[in-house]
Amino acid sequence: PARTRFAPSPTGNLHLGSIRTALFNYLLARRTGGQFLLRIEDTDQKRTIPGAEQGLFRDLRWAGLQWDEGPEVGGPYGPYRQSERLDLYQNHIQTLLDTHKAYRCFCSADRMDQLNRLRHDKGLPLGYDRKCIDIPQDEAEDRAAKGESHVVRFHVPKEYPKYNDLVYGTSGHGAGRTKQHLADEPVYDDPILIKSDKFPTYHFANVVDDKLMEVTHVIRGSEWMSSTPLHVALYNAFDWAPPQYGHVPLLVDADRQKLSKRNFDSDISSFRDKQGIFPEALTNFAALLGWSHQRKNDVMDLPELEEIFDLKITKGNTMVAFEKLNFLQEQHARRRVEAEGEHLEQLIRNVAVELLNKYGAAAMTEFIGKRSLRDVIANLLRVRSLPYRNAQQFVASSELFFSKEKIKKRKPLHLAVPDVSLYPNLRVAATTFFYIPEEFWNRDTLRDHILQLQITDDVSSTPEELARAKAATGTLYAFLRWALLGTDSSPDAPSTMEILGRDVCESRIREAVL
Ligand code: GLU
Repeated sequence: PARTRFAPSPTGNLHLGSIRTALFNYLLARRTGGQFLLRIEDTDQKRTIPGAEQGLFRDLRWAGLQWDEGPEVGGPYGPYRQSERLDLYQNHIQTLLDTHKAYRCFCSADRMDQLNRLRHDKGLPLGYDRKCIDIPQDEAEDRAAKGESHVVRFHVPKEYPKYNDLVYGTSGHGAGRTKQHLADEPVYDDPILIKSDKFPTYHFANVVDDKLMEVTHVIRGSEWMSSTPLHVALYNAFDWAPPQYGHVPLLVDADRQKLSKRNFDSDISSFRDKQGIFPEALTNFAALLGWSHQRKNDVMDLPELEEIFDLKITKGNTMVAFEKLNFLQEQHARRRVEAEGEHLEQLIRNVAVELLNKYGAAAMTEFIGKRSLRDVIANLLRVRSLPYRNAQQFVASSELFFSKEKIKKRKPLHLAVPDVSLYPNLRVAATTFFYIPEEFWNRDTLRDHILQLQITDDVSSTPEELARAKAATGTLYAFLRWALLGTDSSPDAPSTMEILGRDVCESRIREAVL
């Protein structure tokens, strides 16, 4: 079983890239019967945004990614907020100090600036010259105890270790200390582990926590890949076995640019609140960003994903195609309609609000007549050729049902069977609907009636006449679609007629042909 974690910093909103990372970790834990942890990495207090944490919780829960351990739910390895774990980092840094894997550095920010400016001007790589590495430990401890401002640096090994990435294979850049051997005065990476404000840096807290929380698999964005050799080196310094790392590819837009705030609003709240995307559509979409499966069908909700998820993740950058999100949204909307539960009622309510906004209560009341708005909308949502993306788009695309003005502008009739002699018959056929009373005006009766029109024709016909009658029936469908909705690609006639209701049908047929 995998113990995985999602470790966001509360510095902003959850976006598409981060929900994908959270999702992969969640799915790996579910698939293997493990646990999914949430850890808040808030050691950079300057960047922490008040309220961001609550936003992360809300967005994750909305997407269905409930964590097994973490803030608000607790767990045996807490606390799960790094700012509440400072003692632990202090204890662990002491271990590294005692084994000379880390050292205190008292160099001032000014000195570092000077050092770096000088090197920068000479075109040399930046780093630290290890001025403080030889301060005897007693002296260093003494100065620290007296409150002298300092940081703690990692004494990086000569070579960074390589590691086996679950996605990228053998990885690592291998250059620790030797990287800068070209420089006349050598400098070293020796990254800071504890800052002068006593807070740990990301690297240190991240490694200590993954170890203490017994995380087995770290799935994270490929932007962290260059830090992983350092993280593995830290594990080695502690004599700990590192977890398994897998880095997931960068998300890019159609121009192969990194998806970022500047070029696209991919905040979860924007998908949810502005576009009305369903959580299962979003997680379905996010899952397919870089992950591939063997199923024929891409449409999967969270439980289906939990069953089949694995780490077959591509290495290349992943292009985000939002048409796919729209497609998945429509497919999940279809499922919601067919499942007929509270989800369907919610869709109906949303559409009702939009309809009333758009056409006004009086016009809607007239349209519905004695029927209920709920039933009319439910039927409308069942129409296969009218995909639902969100209430606004749906109401816009079903305009022909409701707009009197729009239907008056229907184009001249153009039938596939241009047999002019049929036209009088079509008119007669169309008017026979007027004899169906209101209480029988439903899809089934209407379908029977249309079939009957065909059968009556069939009874006493020669083969030629039979073919003609068949064509006439097909033509009748086309004719009705045109008369009722002014289009030839509209839903099937019986459903359309049911949704429009008897009175609207009668007046539209009259308007069209009489
Ligand atoms: N706090 C880091 C972030 O905000 C976590 C990176 C990691 O998963 O190690 O993405």
